[in-house]
Amino acid sequence: MPGTFTHEFATELYNGTVTVNTGLFINGQFVDSVDRESIDVISPVDGSVITKVSIGNARDIDIAVKAARAAFKSSWGLKVPGSERGKLLYKLADLLEKNADAVAAIEALDAGKPFVYAKGQDVQDAIDNLRYFAGWADKNHGQTIETAEAKFAYTRHEPIGTVAGIVPWNFPLYITIWKIAPALATGNTIVLKPSEMTPLSALKLAELAKEAGFPDGVLNVVTGYGAVAGQALTEHPLVGKVSFTGSTTIGRKVMETAAKTNLKRVTLELGGNSPTLIFDDANLEQTVKWVCWIIFHNCGQMCAAGARILVQEGIYDKFLQAFTDAAESLKQGDSFKATTQQGPLVSKTQLDRVLGYIESGKQEGARIVTGGSHIEGPGYFVKPTIFVDVKPDMKIVREEIFGPVAVVFKFKTEEEAIEAANDTDYGLSSYVFTENVSRAIRVSNAIEAGSCFINEAILMRPQVPFGGYKQSGYGKDMSEYALEAYTQVKAVHVNLSLKL
Ligand code: NAD
Repeated sequence: MPGTFTHEFATELYNGTVTVNTGLFINGQFVDSVDRESIDVISPVDGSVITKVSIGNARDIDIAVKAARAAFKSSWGLKVPGSERGKLLYKLADLLEKNADAVAAIEALDAGKPFVYAKGQDVQDAIDNLRYFAGWADKNHGQTIETAEAKFAYTRHEPIGTVAGIVPWNFPLYITIWKIAPALATGNTIVLKPSEMTPLSALKLAELAKEAGFPDGVLNVVTGYGAVAGQALTEHPLVGKVSFTGSTTIGRKVMETAAKTNLKRVTLELGGNSPTLIFDDANLEQTVKWVCWIIFHNCGQMCAAGARILVQEGIYDKFLQAFTDAAESLKQGDSFKATTQQGPLVSKTQLDRVLGYIESGKQEGARIVTGGSHIEGPGYFVKPTIFVDVKPDMKIVREEIFGPVAVVFKFKTEEEAIEAANDTDYGLSSYVFTENVSRAIRVSNAIEAGSCFINEAILMRPQVPFGGYKQSGYGKDMSEYALEAYTQVKAVHVNLSLKL
């Protein structure tokens, strides 16, 4: 029998008991993995073992995919009208809202996020996305096309079948919803593979989906290692599409596997190394607040983190001082305290990786203005770090650090800033701070990235597409654009005259 994890919270922000089923969720039931193997779930706050969850292998994936395929044919897909699918998604959103505190507590415990953000952003954004796509479920129509006298054609937006959602650890619940909401709204069934580091919120979501009344097999969750369960999903011949969010290295592998097997469709939301451009006329006080969010929120573990900060020479000194003061005032620590603004990195591996980048920055001659070290203790906390005296070819400039580490450059002209901003293999997001509207639009047009935020940080909305240029991937999550990624268009030609 699969286990259940129970945890009692008695904290400043949340008091209550949460339970999570720790088996695999396949065909509407929590089950043991075939091999009955499990993996420790580690707290990033102190390195302790929170619980264990089952880990699936290729055989578990096969069972889950076949269940999802059967559900697609018998009780979902073209069998269930969009309006009914929408109702279930609304119900799931309502249940998530009702359980928002408990789900946020699970996310805070598992990923080390401050509870305030886990609830106000991760869970709230997940609810908003579910409702947005619930609304689309009965509105994704095709077209009628006149072709000749007594002839016409029409298009149908049909689901692909069974899709795989592969999710990273930085926004475990929120990114899970990016996959589930459009996939189910458009009539696909899904097998979800959460990150092995943060599996708990997806398992809780599975429980809520069962309570909402989704037919068995429509939504399945197989926890496990990427190289085993994730690889088996991308190889499986009954999976018609993989929606992957994660690193560029693994994204490349997913694409290769999809090409070598059944040529399944692939959308890739990959890494980033986004530029933040600050012009002399920017509002200093507001800009500093936004920039702290852009690089230090979620401890910098954001694909869209604007880690390369380009500052015009006239505002450079003032900005650097104010930014340093703000970084030093960020409060780190207990996820369940109202004052905590920053949690730890997700794992020891991630801690070592980020400290490795900081060391490389020092070795290559960059200068640390503040931070640069692990905060002593059992947790994976790193001080918010700012580098100056950086050169374009340094490793800390070229690669995605995925931690609370900013590199700050000085520039003179707009042209120089745009060139530096685009000097990267990535193209996920970008940020422009200026009070000159013409410049804001001109610069955002010139930046090679899938998003540009003008005078704000990354605040995503379900109505707006998100996805990369260049090696940050392709395909969009959220918005009407995401519907295309989960449907295939059939053209039906009709001859009313019956004549040749
Ligand atoms: P990762 O690529 O290591 O893992 C992502 C997921 O892929 C995990 O569930 C993992 O188990 C799985 N996986 C690993 N090997 C696999 C394989 N061979 N086949 C199939 N699946 C496999 O990424 P991560 O460390 O979990 O997350 C951090 C990365 O994710 C960063 O690069 C970040 O920029 C990126 N990210 C991108 C976005 C976006 O929207 N563009 C959002 C969040 C994170």
